[in-house]
Amino acid sequence: MDTNKNGSLGSLQLDDKVSDVVLAVGAHPGDMEFMCGAMLINYTLNGLKCVILHMTDGSRGSLKLNIRDYAKQKRLEALKFGQKTGIEVKILDFEDGNLNNGPVEQSALAEKIREIRPGAIITHWKGSFHPDHRNTYSIVHKAALKAALPDGGKEHLVKLICYGENWEDHKDFYPQLYIDVTKAYSLWSEALNEMALARGEVGAFRYRQYYESLVRLRGAEGHCDYAQALMLEEHQIIPIFEKIPPFLKSYIY
Ligand SMILES: [Zn+2]
Repeated sequence: MDTNKNGSLGSLQLDDKVSDVVLAVGAHPGDMEFMCGAMLINYTLNGLKCVILHMTDGSRGSLKLNIRDYAKQKRLEALKFGQKTGIEVKILDFEDGNLNNGPVEQSALAEKIREIRPGAIITHWKGSFHPDHRNTYSIVHKAALKAALPDGGKEHLVKLICYGENWEDHKDFYPQLYIDVTKAYSLWSEALNEMALARGEVGAFRYRQYYESLVRLRGAEGHCDYAQALMLEEHQIIPIFEKIPPFLKSYIY
């Protein structure tokens, strides 16, 4: 796939009118920070607005702390990551470990989409062993549709829904777009220190080791020092490439 400095992708012209706000929707605090935090920092450094929205507070993820204390800690961690990086953070009040894909959840996210008005949403891929992640995938799609329904000018059409790379969402995931995050890497790595997951204080999975290795691997594949990858759904590729948001232009090759 080739592109040039004027933003054309092959012979296709890109749509400059698309909102360049990027919204990352994750099931739990920590998901989007690891999956696409460095690329969001990259966009923020380039002057674009980025928002991470967590569907739940992730309060049931600790074996040491009770739900109330861990909820407080997780909220604080998410907000501190946002403060350090310039990424706006929002947390919805749905229950960790019991996130439903129903009209209440879909409407709550649709309302946020109309408020934030993103050109692109990054979220979980559906091939996940975590039910909250699978439901987030479905909620995002339904919410994006609801947000686009005519409603006296409040409606908003999201042009691109894509998926970040998560150790829990690997079934049938394959990287398609590589984003060079070399300039954002040190700030990302430092901001991750705000999270107990990254400090190895929660559970046995080695988050920092995994995600830092992953950005090096994707960087090697993408011919740069560090990269994060995104996936699109096959049936979306052709229509999306005609309308791809400006923030992706210089990173696609
Ligand atoms: Zn999660």
